[in-house]
Amino acid sequence: MFSVFKEAIESVGGLPGEFLTEEIVRRLYIHTSELLEAGKVMNLTAITDVGDAARLHAADSLFAARAIAKLSQGKDTSLIDVGSGGGFPALPIAIALPNVSVTALDATAKKCEFIALAAAKCDVKVGTLPERAEEAAAKYRESFDFASARAVARLNALLELCVPFVKVGGYFVAMKGSAANEEAEEAKRAAKTLGVTLSDTVDYEIEGGGARHILIYKKVAPTPPAYPRRYAQIKKKPL
Ligand code: SAH
Repeated sequence: MFSVFKEAIESVGGLPGEFLTEEIVRRLYIHTSELLEAGKVMNLTAITDVGDAARLHAADSLFAARAIAKLSQGKDTSLIDVGSGGGFPALPIAIALPNVSVTALDATAKKCEFIALAAAKCDVKVGTLPERAEEAAAKYRESFDFASARAVARLNALLELCVPFVKVGGYFVAMKGSAANEEAEEAKRAAKTLGVTLSDTVDYEIEGGGARHILIYKKVAPTPPAYPRRYAQIKKKPL
């Protein structure tokens, strides 16, 4: 199984060699095996094939790690992964980037328990917050250098859930699929209201996953205290 995982992750083009050391790939594999095992008894991922998981979960998350590495340039930084689910991209980021202190937030306590357990097995430190993003924002407002999210909500709502956590001068890294540009267009007003501006986009492709895009928002002003609103409001009337 390990060799299938290793081969699959190495088949993905565009990842820096320093992310694919024996040690990193071994830890990523531990996360994936724990995920596939736990997935049999709880709802963590639709993926059941180890090669698919290597490419579509682990390698995909490493593209976010690559973007964060470029922005943080080896300095010690902090990151909150919002709606981390089975630990993506939180755990691969923690595995690949020891200078980033990672917190995984998810509304489902069981998912946070899974992430904590998987992190321990991988021998990396990841903090967990079993809370809803819009509720945790009051306590952790403007407390992180980075926020990240994958497959949590449409961008206009997602910005409201994630941007309040980010310090001014920090970044929100949104991992999106083929609708990224359309969502970014739709979320222009939300971005302006919340104090971020789209500073860069990373485009890549993963076999079986199609076109992928990382939208990098830089926080240029504090988020007004009225945000985030309650979830029902965010959903009903996205910014
Ligand atoms: N990021 C992971 C999981 C995506 S599934 C991945 O890409 O594989 C979406 C996850 O977001 C679920 O685990 C769900 O519990 C969580 N979630 C959705 N809305 C949330 C909110 N408002 N606050 C916290 N977690 C949320």
